[in-house]
This record gives sequence, C-alpha cells and structure tokens, in this order.
Amino acid sequence: MNQMDNSTLMQRDLKVLWHPCTQMKDHETLPLIPIRRGEGVWLEDFDGNRYIDAISSWWVNLFGHANPRINNAVKTQLDTLEHVLLAGFSHEPAIRLAEQLMQLTPPGLDRCFFADNGSSAVEVALKMSFHYWRNTGRSEKTRFITLTNSYHGETLGTLAVGDVALYKETYEPLLMKAIGVPSPDCFEREPGESWAEHSEKMFAHMEQALVQHAGEVCAVIVEPLVQCAGNMRMYHPVYLQLLRDACNRHNVHLIADEIAVGFGRTGTLFACEQAAISPDFLCLSKGLTGGYLPLSLTLTSESIYQAFYDDYEKLTAFLHSHSYTGNPLGCAAALATLDIFASDNVIENNQKTAKAMAESVAHLTDHPHVAEIRQTGMILAIEMVKERSSRTPYPWQERRGLRVYRHALQRGALLRPLGNVIYFMPPYVITEEQIRQLAKIATEGIELATSTD
Ligand code: PMP
Repeated sequence: MNQMDNSTLMQRDLKVLWHPCTQMKDHETLPLIPIRRGEGVWLEDFDGNRYIDAISSWWVNLFGHANPRINNAVKTQLDTLEHVLLAGFSHEPAIRLAEQLMQLTPPGLDRCFFADNGSSAVEVALKMSFHYWRNTGRSEKTRFITLTNSYHGETLGTLAVGDVALYKETYEPLLMKAIGVPSPDCFEREPGESWAEHSEKMFAHMEQALVQHAGEVCAVIVEPLVQCAGNMRMYHPVYLQLLRDACNRHNVHLIADEIAVGFGRTGTLFACEQAAISPDFLCLSKGLTGGYLPLSLTLTSESIYQAFYDDYEKLTAFLHSHSYTGNPLGCAAALATLDIFASDNVIENNQKTAKAMAESVAHLTDHPHVAEIRQTGMILAIEMVKERSSRTPYPWQERRGLRVYRHALQRGALLRPLGNVIYFMPPYVITEEQIRQLAKIATEGIELATSTD
C-alpha cells in the first residue's frame, strides 16, 4: 500500500493536481497540507497535526466538520436517492428546502431556482434580470451596476460584475462592461465619521449612477454589509435601505449576493434583515449546506417568475441548467443545517461568540501595524499596515499575510489572510477557549510579520 504521510501525499499531489487560487510554484517552499479527517473546528493532517479551521474552509462550514446531524441526513438520503435531474422531475428534499427558505428569507421571495455553486447562482440572477426586462419589452436594459471592491465569483459573467483586480484584470478583454460605483466601505471614512454617516454619504454616487444609467440598467448587484473577498471591507445597513428605495424609484432590480454573508455570518440569518429590505434576487450557497456539498440557489419574486410564464412558442422560458442542479444530497445537508438553526438558538448564541472574538483581539487595537479591527457579527478582520497613522499599506509583493499564514500552520491554525488582512470567520461551534487560542496565534503571526522593515 502507498505510504500515507504528509510528505508522500504532497509529492503525489504536486505531480497531478492544479490547485485553485494558487501560484503552484509557491509549493516549492510552502507545504501543502493533506487533510485526513475533520471533526468540529479541527482539521487533522496525515502526520497527526491538528488545525483550527478559523476560516470555515472558505466560509462554507457552519456547524463543524463531520457534524453528526448533517452526516446522518446525508447518509439517509444517500440510501434513498443520490441524484435525479430537476427538469421534468422533482424530489422532496428540493421542494421542502424551497418551502423552508421562503419562510426564512425576507418577504416576497417566492420562487427558488437551484444551481450547484455560488458563481452559478449569481449568473442565474444576472441572466434572469436581463431576461425579465427583455420579456417585458425593455430589451435596451443590458447593463449592471456594481460596487468597487466587490466579488461575485470567477466565471466570466461574475468576474465582469466583480472588481477585485487580482482575479479580474487578466480577463478584462473577455468581460462585459459593468458600471462601477464607489463602495460605501467604512475603512475609508473620515476620522470622527460614523459607519452610518459614511455609508449614507457614499450613496450619492449610487444615486448619480442610477439617474444617469437606469434606462440601460437591469440590476444593481451588491454583497450586503461585508465585501468578503475584497479584504472583508464592511458598511452600514443604511446603504441597503437607500439602495432598495432607489432601485424602486429607478425601475432597476436589486440582486443581493448573500453567498458569503448568508446563514448567520453577519449576526442575523440574512444580512438584508438588518436593513429590513427584500431584494429582487437573493443568491445563496456556501453555508446553505452547512459546508458539505456544492449547492446554490437564486430566490426571486412571483412577479418576475410570471414574466417568463407563457406558451412554449413564445420562447420566454428561462432555459439555464446545470447537471447537478438541486442535488438531493446537497438538499438533505441543507435541510439538516436549517434544522440546527431551528433547534439550537444559533443566532443568539453567536452573539456571545462574536463578543468573545472582539475581546480576544482588543489588545491589538493600538498596535503600530494595525490600522483597524472591524467586525460584523461572526466576521472579524484585522487590517495590517506598514504605518498606522497614515494607513500606509505594505507593498503587496512583500506578502506579509503569507508569513501569518505560515506561522499559524505551525501553531495549529488555518488562518488564510486576504492580502494583509487577517480575519476570523470560524464555524459557529468554536469555543471561547479556541477563540483565545486563535487570537494568540494571530497576534504572534502579526508580530512576526511586522517585526522587520
Ligand atoms: N459571491 C460571493 C460573495 C462569494 O464570496 C463567492 C465565493 N467566495 C462567490 C460569489 C462564488 O461562489 P463559488 O466559489 O461557489 O462559485
């Protein structure tokens, strides 16, 4: 039998795999960690080292790895029906999941279209919005408004409405041209200005773009409250309230991409609740299955649905499809995840966890290389800078965040900074003691990464 240790698996891996979001040459010096098993917040490699998964494996895991309740639900489903196409056929887990989500999401979202990953859910929303306007005689509406620093996925359509240069710039010649509006990102607020004041002030740019472009615009797309891939930049719910009102006035759809922030990350089940708004399209994935399986969906209103509902010969149907759309195993995992929310007081308990997260890093507030510690619910970010008072960033080429990553791995934590932003976005089952341990490791990492010029 092949030997099963980190080094052997790394060698085998590097001969055949091409990893996501990775310059593969980095692995000449950076260890690749093969994971043997997971349990709760822990990941264990083939040499027996354990790591706290502080970033929920790219923000997907909610209730721990190998959660017994979700495991059981998937196992039971596996013995019943593993998959069936969703065109012309249906299955009970998809129906029940859609029914339950309609109860839980903001009012007015009465139709559920399944897909199988986050980017696809966004593609569905973009295509549906465009197609709605076309079906209703407004085919001049072909464009989208997006915020600077936003991220909605990495397919060509979603890159086009995103704005993180690292992922987008190379492919620019292939992309449709979106209309970019300055983000309400509160890191950029003036000294003494509140989050609400800054976010409200920044709305003037959106209003202006809508006044100028509404006639040719299908929808505005936003990540409600936190621009996660854009270095965990955050803004105030007032912006969403103003945006909802403006989209109504200008006859433009609002797409809320809650793929990263949904399912309790921001302190409420959905971020839109904090602004008491309903979008025209709500995109969900990641935490939807508790972090188990690739599943996504786009919720929309009955009136948008009705604009596609007609005799076949009219050719108004929405023909988008993915093979694994609404996979029953994913739906079973999602239903088990919703059961945990229903029975375990998750949102309330998270308030205590979020407070513990804030307290654990409070000592870094005045650190000479920390420009800001910001938090929205269960997402906490530490902005590491070269010089605190002027907020001068470290040149990206220095890859200071990577030093924190390496240190954390040695000390038993998976912290994967976004550039120079170190963040915690842990599974909700993390304990206060584990949070303190993470904070200690992050603090050491920051000291190490900032100790040289
Ligand atoms: N939208 C947002 C806000 C995301 O954070 C992500 C993933 N990081 C996506 C879309 C894309 O999801 P996926 O990676 O499943 O395609």
